[in-house]
Order: sequence, then structure tokens, then C-alpha cells
Amino acid sequence: MKDYYGVLGLGQDADQEEIKRAYRKMARQYHPDVNPDDGSAEGKFKEATEAYEVLSDPEKKQRYDLFGEQGPGAGGYGTGFEGFGTPFGDIFDMFFGRSRGATRRGPGRGSDLLYVLEITLEEAYTGTERELDIPRHERCEECEGAGLQKGYDLEICPQCGGQGTLTTTRRTSFGTFSSSAACPRCGGRGEINLHPCKKCGGDGINEIADEIGISVPAGVSDGDRIRVPGKGEAGNRGGLAGDLYVEIRVAEDETFARRGSNLHAVVTVSLAEAALGTGVEIKTFSGEETLRIHAGSQPGEVFRLKGKGMPKLNSRSKGDLYLTLEVQIPKKLSGEQKRLLEDYQELERKGKEAPHLMQRIRKAMRQ
Ligand SMILES: [Zn+2]
Ligand SMILES: [Zn+2]
Repeated sequence: MKDYYGVLGLGQDADQEEIKRAYRKMARQYHPDVNPDDGSAEGKFKEATEAYEVLSDPEKKQRYDLFGEQGPGAGGYGTGFEGFGTPFGDIFDMFFGRSRGATRRGPGRGSDLLYVLEITLEEAYTGTERELDIPRHERCEECEGAGLQKGYDLEICPQCGGQGTLTTTRRTSFGTFSSSAACPRCGGRGEINLHPCKKCGGDGINEIADEIGISVPAGVSDGDRIRVPGKGEAGNRGGLAGDLYVEIRVAEDETFARRGSNLHAVVTVSLAEAALGTGVEIKTFSGEETLRIHAGSQPGEVFRLKGKGMPKLNSRSKGDLYLTLEVQIPKKLSGEQKRLLEDYQELERKGKEAPHLMQRIRKAMRQ
């Protein structure tokens, strides 16, 4: 687990003011613009930015304090995966006083990725570790994302003279019209790359298949999202990478149905077992349990095994396991079984008296 407090040189009890102050100091010291040729400074800057993004947001901070950086994402970002904006830009503006227009050509944060991971109910119970192969784009390490061969720089576009736009003037019989459009040579950037990096072809990013270890917490529910910071797509021109979101699908289980943190299942006993009482071995996710079926148990009766349901995400407690009793009426009887049941029936008839019958009728009416 990443130590966000440690990255900022803070203790776990740091307040918002201290967090802000520590980040501001680190951003000044390690910002890539201040240390253009120092890769380790850039790494430190990114680490600090990631830590600040989490710790400065009360909700994210609480989740991090509970679960670490891969804590269960609640998916509470509303805007979907395209519109996250660039927190990098905000921080950039805040500390370096650049206008928004100026950051347009600066680093852009990479997109977030969404990966759907199906797990079994038992894995949701125990929690699980997975290795995921995630195809994604990563910043080219050869050119550090600049897209340039070593020792070269971008050059001013000869077609537009660095303006990024071309103005054309047309004379017609109705008058003279001017129109401006983005320069086709440089795509509006005003600069061109005459010495593109050989590894990435000048894009500054390469497609790779990344193996990423995911830790799925016990008690996770269908639809929960786990955020893995910095494992999304690479940013443009050296910007921060986006995040990877792993959305959990919990497969249906053959035995247990889940409702919140409780589990529900059916337990089947024979006619004699229900009448005489018995102990039934129940396989739960935490091992075998003996369920006591008391004498005279009725079909449909519900038994509860406390604490044998699913773990709850935000606490150490667990839900309960509810077992609904099903009584099997034999479809076929051996000769001996039949004789015994007929004897039983005979006894029942002899012992049956009017008040008993009345009671049964009354009970039936009530239902
Ligand atoms: Zn141009
Ligand atoms: Zn490259």
C-alpha cells in the first residue's frame, strides 16, 4: 500500500492545512518546469500530486484511511469516464499562476479506464487478489513522453510561423472575405516535430499490456468500483496518467442468494427428520456449521445462523445466514417404509379427537 502521508512527509493525524502546506512545498521543489532534466524530481512531483489529490478530498481521504489507495470506489464521480477534467490543471494554476489558456498546450491528464472483473460470491466473501492484463497506453520512456529524439526540440511551424492558424483572404464580386482555420501542417499547435522519437513515432506514448495486481476487499458488492491511481491511460505531453477503475461483478451463486450482507439458502430434511428433530451439516463460507432442527419443525420455517453471512465493508461485523426449511415428502416408499407409515397413520387416527381437528381447522382459517 502506498503511504500518501509519508510521501508528503506528514503523520497520519495531519490536518487539511498541513496537507496543503506540505504539498505546496513539494510542488515548488519538484515541479517538472523547475527541474526540466531531472526524471526523479518528476516522479516525486507525481507521487506528491497523487497523494495530495486523495488527502485533500475529505471523502477520498476517509476511504484511503480505511482501505488504502485501492479502497473500494463508490463510483461517486457522476460525470462518467470522459469528463473528469484535469485536477492537474487546477493545481498547476493554483501554484504557478498560469492562465487557463496557457495550460492548454501544457500537460493533459490521461483518460481513466474501466475494467469489469467477475468474481464468485465466495471471493466476495473472502476478498481476493487478481492479476489483470490491462491494455493501455503508457508514456514513452525513451523520450519521456516528449515524442522527440534526444537533443532535439520542437520547431516553429514554417507554414503558419508559429501562429497555429492560417488566414485566407478571398476576393469575390460581393467583397473581400477573410477566414482563419487551424494550420494543417502543425494541427494548430504552432510547432512541429522534425525529429520524432523512434520508439513511439512522436506520440510520446506506447501501447502496452500491463499486468496489474488488484486487491478486492472482502464484502465487496456487485457494481463496486476499485480505483487504481495512475494506471489509466498516459497523459499527453508528460501529463499525469489517468486512473484505472475495476468494476466488480459478483456471479450468481448456486447455493446462496445475497441480500445486502445477509445470505439466504434452503435446507432440506426428510419427513422423519422434521418430525423427530435432527442436526444438519451446513457448508458456509467460513466452514461447516451444524444447524439444529428441533422436533416438529415446519416446512417454510426460517433458521438464522448469526454472523454467517457476508462481511460488511466498513466494519468487522458480518451479516447473517437465513435457512428456509424444506421438508421432503418421499415419492416412493419401500414395503417396510409403507408398513411403518400405515402403522403411524393408524395411531394417528385412533388418537384423533374432535378438539384436535377443530384446532387444525381454526389454524387453517387464520392463514
Ligand atoms: Zn503551423
Ligand atoms: Zn518516444
